[in-house]
Amino acid sequence: MVYSKEAQEFFSKELKEIEEQGLFKEERYIHSPQSADIEVEYPAGAELSAVINMCANNYLGLSSHPEVLQAAHDGLEERGYGMSSVRFICGTQDIHRELEEKLSDFLGTEDTILFSSCMDANAAVFEAILGKEDIVICDRLNHASIIDGIRLASSQQDSYKHLDMKHLEKKLQLHQDKRFRVIATDGVFSMDGDIAPLDAICDLADKYDAMVMLDDSHATGFMGRTGRGSHEHCGVMGRIDLLTTTLGKALGGASGGCISGRKELIEMYRQRGRPYLFSNSVPPVIISAAGRVIDLLSRTTERRDQLEENTRYFREKMTSAGFDIRPGVHPIVPIMLYNAKLAQDVARDMYAEGIYVIGFSFPVVPKGQARIRVQLSAGHKQKHLDKAISAFIKVGKKYDILHKSKEEIIEKYGM
Ligand SMILES: *Cc1c(COP(=O)(O)O)cnc(C)c1O
Repeated sequence: MVYSKEAQEFFSKELKEIEEQGLFKEERYIHSPQSADIEVEYPAGAELSAVINMCANNYLGLSSHPEVLQAAHDGLEERGYGMSSVRFICGTQDIHRELEEKLSDFLGTEDTILFSSCMDANAAVFEAILGKEDIVICDRLNHASIIDGIRLASSQQDSYKHLDMKHLEKKLQLHQDKRFRVIATDGVFSMDGDIAPLDAICDLADKYDAMVMLDDSHATGFMGRTGRGSHEHCGVMGRIDLLTTTLGKALGGASGGCISGRKELIEMYRQRGRPYLFSNSVPPVIISAAGRVIDLLSRTTERRDQLEENTRYFREKMTSAGFDIRPGVHPIVPIMLYNAKLAQDVARDMYAEGIYVIGFSFPVVPKGQARIRVQLSAGHKQKHLDKAISAFIKVGKKYDILHKSKEEIIEKYGM
């Protein structure tokens, strides 16, 4: 086989179409550690600009926290750089097991198994335990990695309308003939910051004999009174059978993920989880730093409290300034603009004002639902928030979108 002229032309054309549809994703080069204040080269080759980062998953501001860096250094010094092995051959150190135990304590589960990412955890979570006689019933707006995990499994699948408990109940009734039923949901949905009604989901699971699988990547570390996640927020700790989450967001933001839950199931993943058996062990530098993050978060709720306060402040100021914001309590704040070009233009103007935000449009969100997604962090100080808010107001005035209804914005800019 050769990389023929036809193949080359085919892919060039595909790429051009992506670009013409305004869907081409450009990367912006950051020259500093991840933080509230960053230095960015954008466009490529331009002078560096100092901007405020309002779109990282660095919810607790731990990505460059001195104690976390120190723990990473300690891990590197004491345990070396790489394990050069999967877990079951010679890739398990005592600190891997310790971190799994700390995560179980923190999440309120029986046992935990680490993966290289939450994407990998989701690739194992259904495939390793379910067969043809089982079914996964999934919220229609679940994260891509849950969808992919379901695709990899030989089990059957069905879905329910986003957050619609009546519809979920119907589906559970419909599938009473299956051996095992698993309800799969995100804890927090990343585009709107809305939260799954886990109490109702667990009640339905009890009533119709189903397991609950929760992906809590956008919640672990800060949702709930002590930051355990959306299961704490909804008062259902101990009732989640399978919880997947990432170390790549609030918990220091490097990489790594896990499945946490019922102990027999976790043992099944050690025996059968393909991304666990056939992919390298998480390196000691990350294990050591993530362990310190869990210690920090178990000691004090200061950081999640600060994040809650920052979120409340930002949401309140932006709403009273007249922006159309999906209501909620999560640090994901969707500022609705509906039109894709408008979202891009606002993001560009915000960048010129020193605020790094990104416009999201189709296919990441449905057509006609373009937006800017702001993500707050405990690492944001008052001055960061105030600067971002005044920049939004300035740009909002320029485009005349303040105190305008959805219909008015769409009338002016189109869908
Ligand atoms: C970010 C995210 C993931 C992926 O996590 P990684 O550890 O980066 O692979 C999985 N699920 C959800 C819901 C996420 O938001």
